[in-house]
Amino acid sequence: MAHAASQVASDVEGSPRGAAIRLRGLRKEFGSVVAVDLVDLDVEDGEFLTMLGPSGSGKTTVLRMIAGFVIPTAGRVELGGVDVTARPPFDRDVNTVFQDYALFPHMSVQENVEYGMRVRNVERGQRRRRAVEALDSVQLGGYGARRPSELSGGQRQRVALARALVNRPKVLLLDEPLGALDLKLREQMQVELKGIQRQVGITFVFVTHDQQEALTMSDRIAVFHDGRIEQVGPPAEVYERPATEFVAGFVGTSNLLRGAAARTVLGRDGIWSVRPEKIRVLDPGGVAETGLRFADGVVREVVYVGDVTRFVVELDAGGELVALQQNLHTSSSDVLAFRGRAVRLVWRPEHEFEVGAGTAGSPPAGGA
Ligand code: ATP
Repeated sequence: MAHAASQVASDVEGSPRGAAIRLRGLRKEFGSVVAVDLVDLDVEDGEFLTMLGPSGSGKTTVLRMIAGFVIPTAGRVELGGVDVTARPPFDRDVNTVFQDYALFPHMSVQENVEYGMRVRNVERGQRRRRAVEALDSVQLGGYGARRPSELSGGQRQRVALARALVNRPKVLLLDEPLGALDLKLREQMQVELKGIQRQVGITFVFVTHDQQEALTMSDRIAVFHDGRIEQVGPPAEVYERPATEFVAGFVGTSNLLRGAAARTVLGRDGIWSVRPEKIRVLDPGGVAETGLRFADGVVREVVYVGDVTRFVVELDAGGELVALQQNLHTSSSDVLAFRGRAVRLVWRPEHEFEVGAGTAGSPPAGGA
């Protein structure tokens, strides 16, 4: 889409670092299925770029076209300014880390990490030294003699990473590498992986369908939908200024006000959104300060999630909004009693934005 294309141009072409990866007009058909269509994307040298989107949106296919495992139906893949579209995977300066790690079970950790260098006839002493360094960089020094079966999922994931890093590729492609881990380990690995990327300075292209993961780790996020990129930008921009309704809904809760609801609550047309954590839930009639936006409604659903509570409120003006409240003083029984109650939702006008407009909302505060 035009927005994505101009975003790429403004982010990258003015950059002194240059593009490690440049995709132009990339398209892939599998029979009658168009898996990827008209993808333009530049990834800067040393950048952590995440391709985010729902299952089937084309992320993996793009990654595999960068790696050379899938040949594009149309378009071009450049690595470091060189057109590699027709080159086989082994002739591209990239490495891939897969979700299932693909470690050799009969080899030790050290042998697994050395494998690529052995194939390329790197001298034995250098092989050893580089493998030890790579294992150290993923905090696995001292684990070299173990078999993969003697490691936890997170440790296996780090061996796979060390095995990819040891080849010192310009670009590392990661296809849902944390998908098999439980939530706690996954969150820990997100922080570690970002730290390792910063330390080694390699360009990372990371595929996930988990928006939280994308927001946590990335320098920029490319949001995929139906084989196309809907928006490319830094996490805060994608979250706070979604370019399309799809992005607003996929990267967060959509919380849209449109038509009559937008006119009544905001006094304007268009499609507007305000993030749930920006909305306070008050008693009917309760507005503490002037200049705030407010909308009256009835609580349709309350979900207690431990640290926060989600209120789904049906607005008198039509449509509904979700509000997230920190459970500072409340208990689960307190909040559940809210179901069916009339409430007033309140937020600051600067926290509402027009979806796709790229600007914050700024009309004078009025109200329902
Ligand atoms: P997921 O998160 O589930 O891995 P994805 O966003 O990575 O999804 P892709 O794997 O790129 O999506 O698939 C995009 C589309 O292309 C899907 O409709 C998929 O069914 C189709 N597809 C992918 N690979 C093939 C193939 N080898 N043959 C036929 N269709 C394919």
